[in-house]
Amino acid sequence: MPEPVIGLEIHLAIRTKSKMFCACSAESFGLQPNVNTCPVCLGLPGSLPVANGDAIMKAVRFSLALHCQVPERTQFHRKHYFYPDAPKNYQISQFDRPVGEHGWVELDAGRRIGVTRCHVEEDAGRMVHPPYAEHSLVDLNRAGAPLIEMVTEPDLRTPEEARAFLTQVQAVARALGVSDASPEQGKMRADVNVSLRREDGRLGTKVEVKNLNSFKSVAAALAFEIKRQAVLLEEGREVPQETRGWNEGGQRTYLLRSKEESADYRYMPEPDLPPLVLDHAWVEGVRETMPELPAEKRARYLALGLRPADAELIAADVHAAALFDAAVAAYGGAAQPVANWLLGDVTGLLNAEGRALAESALRPEALAELVRLIDEGTISGKIAKEILPEVVAGASPADVVERRGLSLMRDESALVEVVERVIAENPEVVASVAQNPKAINALLGRVMKQTRGTARPDAVRRLLQERLGVAAD
Ligand SMILES: [Zn+2]
Repeated sequence: MPEPVIGLEIHLAIRTKSKMFCACSAESFGLQPNVNTCPVCLGLPGSLPVANGDAIMKAVRFSLALHCQVPERTQFHRKHYFYPDAPKNYQISQFDRPVGEHGWVELDAGRRIGVTRCHVEEDAGRMVHPPYAEHSLVDLNRAGAPLIEMVTEPDLRTPEEARAFLTQVQAVARALGVSDASPEQGKMRADVNVSLRREDGRLGTKVEVKNLNSFKSVAAALAFEIKRQAVLLEEGREVPQETRGWNEGGQRTYLLRSKEESADYRYMPEPDLPPLVLDHAWVEGVRETMPELPAEKRARYLALGLRPADAELIAADVHAAALFDAAVAAYGGAAQPVANWLLGDVTGLLNAEGRALAESALRPEALAELVRLIDEGTISGKIAKEILPEVVAGASPADVVERRGLSLMRDESALVEVVERVIAENPEVVASVAQNPKAINALLGRVMKQTRGTARPDAVRRLLQERLGVAAD
């Protein structure tokens, strides 16, 4: 079998208040068209760009997190091409002096994937094609929004690896506050390139697949391309060099354009923006204020005794990690039970409601209290599950238990009353216990029902056994 050789080009929308070179809001998702525009991002004559310092800082932070070298001088270039949604007819991007170069990302299996470069550039606008209309519309809210483009070395070997890599990059971008990295809002987009290396070592022609807007599509497009190219090679044919698109409905790639030579973008230094000096002390300052990265979090959670799979899941999600850290601190006991509730029932409940953890009102102190109430024997796991919807909606578990009278019956005399009542009400079951000791379970069930699950099953069993003269099992 020929070996797939895969590289990625990822665009991340940088999370900033304003656009890359003007003061317009960088938010474009779900807005009326063309509300966030000005002479600079409309490309009007005489307007001048000013670089967004926050965007540069975040791109440097991201580059450092990917172990890139950050040069002392970086520069913006004009990349020329005509797109109807890019009014200047060039894009301000970076060419030979990007903010980061020669980095790497380590996959969980310990494999390092090379990061060729990270550079800053501005986004284009968006074309809207109304159905049945004979015209198209241009929305320039996104034009000039800041982007990081990162390019990897062709070090990935399988669609699954590519997907794992994207997941990791997403977790890093979110942990750093650099980008929301949400593919569903177009804030993380990927192009892939893939070729097959034949058994004799010859590398096949590289094919690009553009504009994949989910990690699932990336994996599916790669799997499709690998198969398509393998069939061509098996038939003794060449793979033509081309750029392909992805048809989500048909789950197949299709020809966008054949590419004989690379386009001439006539890169030239942007005359309106001087080269940018990234002072060494400033870069070190960015490095020092770097938030904890997912890999560091994972290591810390393993040291707390979490199961590796759980440590991985929590570390990859900024919101889950923040909640977990605060809940473990408030609880003060073992971390694993907190993780169990967070990843199990809490996540299950939110998934069923189609909500994200960040949107829930669950407080870390409430999660800690829930685990403590179970730990102390005040409530059972079953009761905890029952009150969970209220807790996730923001209530205090202790308050809910108190209000609904759900704490386990500590008062044995009250429990004795219920046990004796159930024995009196079920003479046939009681009579059958002598032949069949298992019949005691039916009585136990009835006591649990009458106490609405607030009795401790071990105490009920002991009381029933004592009163019916059955030997303890
Ligand atoms: Zn603007």
